[in-house]
Amino acid sequence: MNQQLAKKRLGIFSLTCCEGCQFALLKDYISFQKVLEYYDIINFRLAQETNLPGPFDVVLIEGTPESDREIKLLKEIRKESAVVVAIGSCAILGGIQSERNRLPQKYIGSEKVKTIKNVIKVDYEIPGCPIDNTETIGYLLNLYFGKNIELPDYSVCFECRQNENNCLIKTKKLCLGPITRGGCNSVCINGGEACLGCRGATNQANFDKLRETLKSFTDSEEIENILTIYGEYEKDSKDRHDRK
Ligand code: SF4
Ligand code: SF4
Ligand code: SF4
Repeated sequence: MNQQLAKKRLGIFSLTCCEGCQFALLKDYISFQKVLEYYDIINFRLAQETNLPGPFDVVLIEGTPESDREIKLLKEIRKESAVVVAIGSCAILGGIQSERNRLPQKYIGSEKVKTIKNVIKVDYEIPGCPIDNTETIGYLLNLYFGKNIELPDYSVCFECRQNENNCLIKTKKLCLGPITRGGCNSVCINGGEACLGCRGATNQANFDKLRETLKSFTDSEEIENILTIYGEYEKDSKDRHDRK
């Protein structure tokens, strides 16, 4: 790195979740060292003992805000941070735990699961369950140089076809590839599993068309179940546009 360039201050925070996105960041430590060339990590409780308060130039936050303590923390982080990035499907869509939102209130016993964007202004989102560390490190370097994070807006099907996989829908298996944002190199289908939509929907996702296709071999309940695995916020175009 050019020695003239000052490092920026990075914070990495976790709310209620499995912490898998933080672990994903560290999955390949050699790659992660690139981040350390450009950022001082001021606060990262998973990985270091000494953690300092803001201000931060950039923060990454995973998970969903569940308790009053987490909501307060989130608001404090926002005040101290120039750029807030929500990472992972929990933070962006509500994640697996948002299945709770579909239960009758008497079984929930608490408030519905919120996304980070429901509580504070979020500048960028990096999708996935977990996030992809190469993609995330690339976006961190973009932010360092003042560039925006621009997510791919092609579907998982695009990458799936490039990888020459056999289409699962043709064998009557539910797959959300047609509406799901690519960028994961269709990793699940490459391994023989369907896409369950962890990266959220593309901007042009046609939910009605997908429903129509899937209805030819399965029932509506099953389709709605799969569409809401990673959060009910993505379940159709109207909801998605309303939350922007
Ligand atoms: S998005 Fe997935 S991997 Fe990341 S914290 Fe949530 S459940 Fe864990
Ligand atoms: S298997 Fe899924 S992701 Fe691949 S082409 Fe078929 S619908 Fe698209
Ligand atoms: S194939 Fe679908 S479920 Fe699998 S990582 Fe990609 S977006 Fe997520």
